[in-house]
This record gives sequence, C-alpha cells and structure tokens, in this order.
Amino acid sequence: MSDADADTTAGDRRTTHAPDRDDRFAVPLVGVAVDPETRCAHWDDAVDIVALRFGCCEAFSPCHACHDEATEHDPEPWPRERFDEPAVLCGACGATLTARRYLDGDDACPACGAAFNPGCRRHRERYFEVGGDGEPNLDA
Ligand SMILES: [Zn+2]
Ligand SMILES: [Zn+2]
Ligand SMILES: [Zn+2]
Repeated sequence: MSDADADTTAGDRRTTHAPDRDDRFAVPLVGVAVDPETRCAHWDDAVDIVALRFGCCEAFSPCHACHDEATEHDPEPWPRERFDEPAVLCGACGATLTARRYLDGDDACPACGAAFNPGCRRHRERYFEVGGDGEPNLDA
C-alpha cells in the first residue's frame, strides 16, 4: 500500500455524497475526488490537507464546493459557540483540531507539523463564524 511517488498520480480518489461518509476517515467526511489526505477536485496543492466541519450538518468537507456538491442544503459556518469542539481535520495525520486552535495557529498541524495552506485565511469566514473583520472574536 505504499507508493512513494504517488504525488502526481490520481491516487485513490473518492467522491462521497451525504448521507454516506468516506470510510477512510475517522470523522464523517463528504467531498469530490477526495484523496487520502483530503485534497479534493477543487484544492489539490501539497498544502491542501485540511477538511473543515460545517455547522449545518456537522460533516467535514475539504472545501465549500465539495460541501455544495456532496449535500443538498445551504452551508453554514462552524458556530462560534462551538469553537472548542473539533472542527478541522488534518489530512496528513488524521488529527482533529478545535476551531480555536486552528484559527489561532500558524498554518501547521500541531500534531504532525504538516503545513496547511495559509491562503485559507482569506476565506475563513465561509467556514467559521468569525467577526466581519475576519478575526475570530474569541473573547465573546
Ligand atoms: Zn452541511
Ligand atoms: Zn473541494
Ligand atoms: Zn497532522
């Protein structure tokens, strides 16, 4: 099952639609052409290895577009009052991070050190119920 130079191949890609879930992951996860490290049809760089949890259905998806295609409801960001619950999956090691730890972190997995895509910060408000200025209102 090891293939050291699988980077440029399609690898094991799976598309999962709710209410099914991708059984490769310990959390309920749906998405389009998801690889074993949660890259997807839309975000496929080396650093695109997180899946985000949605407030609407509590499923994890690699991105917004995945959630749109894999479910039949409108997405809701992860609610602020639940920022201390697991809401981010590291596709590299399978660890889950709380929303707070992810948002306060430095774009790397605290468990395995894998680098996350720093560009995700630009649209974090789509995934997390943060203030209008894009900063998490952690004292609220
Ligand atoms: Zn949903
Ligand atoms: Zn996607
Ligand atoms: Zn990790």
